[in-house]
Amino acid sequence: MDERTMRYANELARMIRCETVSVQGQSDYEKFTRFQALLEELFPALFAVCEKEVFHGSLLMRWPGQHPEKAPVLFMNHQDVVEASGEWEHEPFSGDITEDKIWGRGTLDDKGALWGMLRAADELAAEGFTPDCDIWFESADAEEIGGNNGEGADEISLILKERGIRFAFVLDEGGMIVTEPMLGAKGSYAMIGVGEKGTADLKIIARSSGGHASTPPKDTPLVRLGKFMAECDSGSLFRVEMNPTVQEMFRRVSGGIDGMMKNVLSKPDVYKKVLEAIMNRTSPEGAAMLRTTLAFTMAKGSDGHNVLPQEAWVLGNMRFAHHQGMEESVEAVRKVAEKYDLEVAVEVAGFTSPVTSYKCLGFRMLEQGIKEIFPGAVPTPYIMNGASDARFMSRVSDNCLRFAPFSINADQRHSVHGPNENLDLSTLAPAVDFYRWMMTHVG
Ligand SMILES: [Zn+2]
Repeated sequence: MDERTMRYANELARMIRCETVSVQGQSDYEKFTRFQALLEELFPALFAVCEKEVFHGSLLMRWPGQHPEKAPVLFMNHQDVVEASGEWEHEPFSGDITEDKIWGRGTLDDKGALWGMLRAADELAAEGFTPDCDIWFESADAEEIGGNNGEGADEISLILKERGIRFAFVLDEGGMIVTEPMLGAKGSYAMIGVGEKGTADLKIIARSSGGHASTPPKDTPLVRLGKFMAECDSGSLFRVEMNPTVQEMFRRVSGGIDGMMKNVLSKPDVYKKVLEAIMNRTSPEGAAMLRTTLAFTMAKGSDGHNVLPQEAWVLGNMRFAHHQGMEESVEAVRKVAEKYDLEVAVEVAGFTSPVTSYKCLGFRMLEQGIKEIFPGAVPTPYIMNGASDARFMSRVSDNCLRFAPFSINADQRHSVHGPNENLDLSTLAPAVDFYRWMMTHVG
């Protein structure tokens, strides 16, 4: 391993070792204070040129540019991580460095990218570079717990809005550089999230007068819930629609596909109806791109094996498509629920982000940077199924982009929020090069 990579890996390892698991309702920010002290130690040149503010456990910094009158840009990646249960080959907070990898909770989500953006900026600051426009950095303490408890990116975006700040673009965590992103497409693709689906949990409740299990009437609560779930599962509850982002994604991945599908995917506007029907039926990932989804995740019946429940419920986790938002999607569920005499309650709701155009200046800059640093990787827009802090920043920018400049394989993709999260050492230096390219070209 070369000296530069070794130095980089050791820095990231220290950030992994400084555990920052966020917990619902947190009020003690000591671990984030400790983590930020480490950041100051690792990136002294950057902290020396930035104005710094701390909100609860979240960090906001401004690097003044040569032209403060120009629209600033925002680079953001969160500090907190999810807990690390399960069986790990390397201790989750060890930051172990092996021959070709660095291991631990947060390597991919999201300390790797946080390290990369700060490392790039610190190097530039140490070289005496001043950016053309103001560059802001944000790093929240509550992304993994929804960020919407009035802290983290939620709070900071409102403060920025109140100050009248509008960013030319925002770059947050999101897609990465992957091979075979879908449909067996050959080659390497830099997946850039341009929007994210909204989420909510629905509780569907069935009531009855209860009774003994020895003389069950027809349509007891669990039976009604069962019929209801079976009907929802048919896949025809929500409107299927291939939006312009998904169409553009297909156009770009079609370059790596052989045979008849190449032609179909390269003209998604022409073959829209066919593609919608195929994708919705053949793969869960395909369906999630085209419509709202509803997944049943929890259930409760009576407390006794021989007691009919007076109340039973199931919980459905929903992700709303942009063309059929929360109100309309929940209404579709409610209609089915009414057939079986069930109540529907919306438990937790997060909002759907706007969609950033893949033709905007920020996206085009990302494309250019990717071309320079990762030749051969095809920049591809997509809609994320999961939520990120970037959605809050839609309050202060029309152009929120979600991309982390790391090359990862399928195993690594699945290690996010699971055991054995890890990052290839070979991807560290290019990530810094990428952020350096971005920071020296903004303005
Ligand atoms: Zn994350």
